[in-house]
Amino acid sequence: MHIGILGGGQLAMMMIQMSRKYNFDFIVVDPSDNPPASKYARHIKSNYNDKNTLNLLINECDVITIDFENVPADALKYLEGKIKVYPNSVSVEVCQDRLKEKNLFQEIGIPTTQYKKINSEEDLISAIGEIGNDSILKSRKFGYDGKNQISMDNCTPENAWLKSSGVEAILEKKVNFKTEVSLIGVKTEEKKTFFYPLVENFHQNGILNSSIAPYENKVLQKQAENYHNLITDKLNYIGVFVIEFFINEDNDLIANEMAPRVHNSGHWTNEGADISQFEAHIMAITNLEIKSISISGYSGMVNILSKMPNEQKLINNSSYNLYDYGKSERENRKLGHITCVKDNRNDLIENINDIKSMLI
Ligand code: AMP
Repeated sequence: MHIGILGGGQLAMMMIQMSRKYNFDFIVVDPSDNPPASKYARHIKSNYNDKNTLNLLINECDVITIDFENVPADALKYLEGKIKVYPNSVSVEVCQDRLKEKNLFQEIGIPTTQYKKINSEEDLISAIGEIGNDSILKSRKFGYDGKNQISMDNCTPENAWLKSSGVEAILEKKVNFKTEVSLIGVKTEEKKTFFYPLVENFHQNGILNSSIAPYENKVLQKQAENYHNLITDKLNYIGVFVIEFFINEDNDLIANEMAPRVHNSGHWTNEGADISQFEAHIMAITNLEIKSISISGYSGMVNILSKMPNEQKLINNSSYNLYDYGKSERENRKLGHITCVKDNRNDLIENINDIKSMLI
């Protein structure tokens, strides 16, 4: 089996590493010189919509997947019909655009915060009149990890519009949330979905800082699974799909965004589950049967941003798993992560705090 991945980042790297036992051949396409996955697979340095590269993938691969959602949907459309493409171009197109994403949530009855489409300064002024200043202006595209977001409580509409360079955006009301969780599920060609338990996520400056699983709440788990099924059915989706939610003060799930791929909040599954999200995704897109997925104990993950640690305690300690993506250091760049698994939640939280203190 030959698998092509558009994008050669750490997610592609872990899809390859975590599915080694199947002996699949991987080709990764990435315009950069040495993306993390290039150490483990053949790397084609190319733009994603280069026709020669796409034709090569059609000739040499059985299935194509992605490691980030900003792959041009046109490239996926070109591949579709000629070769299996999971996720399909429609799902990727929706997830690339915050407005389409929120409209889809609303259309199928999944609660979101109040939002408005913004195409001009006048739109912004009128939307603030309706939603209020306790809101965020978010660009519709290229806005992951808190990028291209302007908090309106200290900003005039004129300044915000100028700062946003006038790109198409949405204004959304801030959610006064108790916490944030995500649901990771994998859907197979036989239309069965296997879910991991909800994972609780802690962000700093809009970037995921740490995750703890499971977030134990049977009612919300069921509700989130229902929402996940509604979306993957609607999108005719195969593979790993993730929804990020706020839990508001009334204990309701409010959908924030979704990802048509494996996710940073699922890195704990490498050690905390019998089938990781990466292996599960590869199994689903190659039609290998998944019988069940189970987890053990309590798992945590801490992201390493900006600078790799040189703490020997972290590097040499067998109770932590340190992942180094091999990237050069840069402010707020995700360079690696650390996971740990414990039998009980209190021990896990102690461990996570320990890890965080060593990363400062
Ligand atoms: P996003 O890029 O939309 O995932 O936003 C990154 C993070 O910023 C979220 O995980 C939240 O912590 C915070 N955030 C984004 N949108 C909102 C909102 N409407 N209300 C409150 N916090 C938000």
